[in-house]
Amino acid sequence: MEASVTSEDDAGSDATLSSASTITTASADLNSDLNFSLAITSHPAAVERPQKKSQLVGITKRRNWLERFKPQRPTQEERRAARAALASRKDEGFVASQLREGRVLLHRNGKQLVTLTPNGSAEIAWQHPDILGAIGAREEGVVVLSPNHLAIDVSAWQEAEILERAEGIFVGTRELMGIGTREALGDASRARALLTWHATTKFCGACGHETTPIEGGAKRVCGACSRRYYPRIDPVAIALVRSADDQKILLGRTPKLRKGMYTCLSGFVEPCETVEDAVRREVFEEAGVLVDAVTLWASQPWPIGRAGGCELMLACVAEASAAASTIDVDETEMEDVRWFTRQEARAAFDAAVAYAHQPAGAAEDGVVFVPGDYAIAHHLIKSWLFPPP
Ligand SMILES: [Zn+2]
Repeated sequence: MEASVTSEDDAGSDATLSSASTITTASADLNSDLNFSLAITSHPAAVERPQKKSQLVGITKRRNWLERFKPQRPTQEERRAARAALASRKDEGFVASQLREGRVLLHRNGKQLVTLTPNGSAEIAWQHPDILGAIGAREEGVVVLSPNHLAIDVSAWQEAEILERAEGIFVGTRELMGIGTREALGDASRARALLTWHATTKFCGACGHETTPIEGGAKRVCGACSRRYYPRIDPVAIALVRSADDQKILLGRTPKLRKGMYTCLSGFVEPCETVEDAVRREVFEEAGVLVDAVTLWASQPWPIGRAGGCELMLACVAEASAAASTIDVDETEMEDVRWFTRQEARAAFDAAVAYAHQPAGAAEDGVVFVPGDYAIAHHLIKSWLFPPP
């Protein structure tokens, strides 16, 4: 499957980045590339009314698509400020106090309200908290993304009704991977992941009673048995499988992928399974290829997972066994799996620039391409084609 998008934890820390970097230094640059974090400090702290379109002209320069993934880590001072601001999460009235100071992202049916700049990029159309009263939304549906940055699910309201009061357009998270700024993508992804989880965790799995959000939407609790629920994340192992002689890589496609797209093999990690074993199992199940060494390489959150939730893509580099590298495709799951030579992989990588962000069916017959740079699969393939010196 296509891989993922990175956001950070609620305190704005780069824990993912730091811990992954300790696994292998080779992955450090990659992690930085994918780290479009929640911008805990880059938004203006002062509460402002939504900007008029004319005010936005010239504010956001069009960035090239790789530049969007460059790291912009908060300073230690900024991290401390964020941690202090979120330390009061358990206090009564936390959301109300955040609403007094903050601004709100609107999420509707998997899309987020953004403003398109004349240069073609998208920024979150942050709203004054008054919008909640205007459309009749309740405070308990609000989640805190980062200090003074909140989000609410407005799927229950008509789009026209919302757009009478808020300027912007609703754009899907997937489309934002192509046009959103790094900050917009981080905020939109986190909002989508949290709000989707809240929308599907309304009742206690143990006693069936209603659950309610607590701590600014970081958890839910059952009103009858007090069981706590934490946001769900689905771990997915994704692997760049290299041939034993390192001259080919294994890429495949499911029927759901856009015409012409091939990517690294992947699958959900099963309970009590290691990531490395998940790679060995999935590659054998999908392609009939045996894998020897597996190295965990980098990770990336993917907010538009197959099951509707947020996945955590755990990227690995794997070596196929010399003894059993003949492909035997599982046709119930995969449409095709093939070995790509360096030349073929390079052509598919170059084609990603032209096709990865195009609508479905855009690729001409015979054109093969890999996912764009929003996906960790792209970086896995890139690392093989262009190894660091
Ligand atoms: Zn319960």
